[in-house]
Amino acid sequence: QFPFGRRLPCDIYWHGVSFHDNDIFSGQVNKFPGMTEMVRKITLSRAVRTMQDLFPLEYNFYPRSWILPEEFPLFVAEVRMMKDSDPSWKPTFIVKPDGGCQGDGIYLIKDPSDIRLTGSIQSRPAVVQEYICKPLLVDKLKFDIRLYVLLKSLEPLEIYIAKDGLSRFCTEPYQEPTLKNLHQVFMHLTNYSLNIHSGNFIHSDSVNTGSKRTFSSILCRLSSRGADVKKLWSDIISLVIKTIIALTPELKVYYQSDIPAGKPGPTCFQILGFDILLMKNLKPMLLEVNANPSMRIEHEQELSPGVFENVPSPVDEEVKVAVIRDTLRLVDPRKKKRKDVHQQLWNKYVRQQSHEMGPACSASMKDKQHKHHSLKLSLKLKFYLKLGSCVVCYRCQTLEHVSEGSEQLLGAGPSDRPEYDTTRSVEAGLPSICLKQVFPKYAKQFNYLRLVDRVAALFIRFLGVKGTTKLGPTGFRTFIRNCKLSNSNFSMASVDILYIDITRRWNSMGIDHRESGMCLQAFVEAFFCLAQKKYKSLPLHEQVASLIDFCEYHLAALDEKRLVCGRG
Ligand code: ADP
Repeated sequence: QFPFGRRLPCDIYWHGVSFHDNDIFSGQVNKFPGMTEMVRKITLSRAVRTMQDLFPLEYNFYPRSWILPEEFPLFVAEVRMMKDSDPSWKPTFIVKPDGGCQGDGIYLIKDPSDIRLTGSIQSRPAVVQEYICKPLLVDKLKFDIRLYVLLKSLEPLEIYIAKDGLSRFCTEPYQEPTLKNLHQVFMHLTNYSLNIHSGNFIHSDSVNTGSKRTFSSILCRLSSRGADVKKLWSDIISLVIKTIIALTPELKVYYQSDIPAGKPGPTCFQILGFDILLMKNLKPMLLEVNANPSMRIEHEQELSPGVFENVPSPVDEEVKVAVIRDTLRLVDPRKKKRKDVHQQLWNKYVRQQSHEMGPACSASMKDKQHKHHSLKLSLKLKFYLKLGSCVVCYRCQTLEHVSEGSEQLLGAGPSDRPEYDTTRSVEAGLPSICLKQVFPKYAKQFNYLRLVDRVAALFIRFLGVKGTTKLGPTGFRTFIRNCKLSNSNFSMASVDILYIDITRRWNSMGIDHRESGMCLQAFVEAFFCLAQKKYKSLPLHEQVASLIDFCEYHLAALDEKRLVCGRG
């Protein structure tokens, strides 16, 4: 810890709250610039809504939400319309102040007119959301899941999910919301920080009882009841990937502003806490994302009135220690160095082998590769050949240090193990790996959703001066001109009007007054407008995809032209 500042550069910087870039020019920082802003309730709701506009079915894991105060009239109108079309619909809504945490300021309502719009709401914006009335119950109690997710890199996108998480329980038996029980927080809110104050809260030394349990213990119970736990996991993975895809466009804008490309700077990674609620039918719903999840592995115990002591919490320890340990393993700076050295050694080894032993050796290497493969499939063992004090794995071309011995068979544990290319002696004593890569592993299934990412790339290209996050009127005009979007039906005067209209509205929402100009969300809105105008009869996501292709095509042609001119 460096409470008074630090003199030497570090490999890894572990910041307590958020990214600050003061004087970091190398290494890795455990926070992304802008992440705290991005996961605030309003910003997250907006980002998810943009994706819901494009892909409504894929993004139905987030409750319908409205942003207050500006969308209050829309909220009232939409609820009235839905009630008119289905008189049996008796909804409940949950109001959550923006930037709040630990259940602070949250309340439930039955009707839009119950919103406390008096004075303070103007100064405290909030999100109002459809309340999930039928959650899955265990022991008659509502609970939510806290899952830890490692965003290891933004470009290229790399996401890992912890195989276990926490389940946090309410402390009063659940009943569907009625006017009588709406205010009972111990029944409706699962926050640990609230329920700890209930007389019913149970601290348990076991991971499968009490008010905080491991998620795996819940899965075991569900599985014994015949639930399809595999499908549940796959739905959760999909929810996590889709949510991060919704966040990445704006994160990239923050990133280029704080860490401009081409200048010395750190790379970033971040552990995020995903709060998920399971519905009765086992559908996971996203509640929120936490940029700074608590990593405490102790809890306070009241020894005598007013006297507290910190005692270890086995459940927290079980889940969180593994997350931190695996994160450090994955971002280990020595790993990258080792990888480079291994690659060099491997190349040298292959060159030497084929040079010294000729074609016969290549054939025998192939045999061994094959043998290795079948061994790995059947016995889950890895086949190593000794090289100096190290062994080379033929198939994964990785190299590991071992104790003396010529040709060895080493047990390799689960099949995803080779990702962790750490020294065996250290590895040997550690429990199994908890963080599992889900992206790019499943990229093929999700890449079609990354449209706004491509819109953000266009936006960043025209931002001009590095360090900004907003596009000026000239930048917007250049974008229109370079992408050949202006024509006799859409004059440059209309372009200026579009810019002014949209930018003024977004800036009046009072989100970020540090800079003037068009923010990414405003640009995305303008882009959708242009796409709808140009490709009238298609669904929105196809209109947007077509316009992106059109812009990228013209920009590539322009780049090529400039390159040729440059050469000339
Ligand atoms: P905070 O950041 O203050 O914890 P959350 O969004 O996590 O805010 O909400 C607090 C709690 O309220 C959640 O842990 C969950 O138990 C409950 N909750 C939040 N949103 C919903 C919802 N849409 N439906 C049902 N319960 C919800």
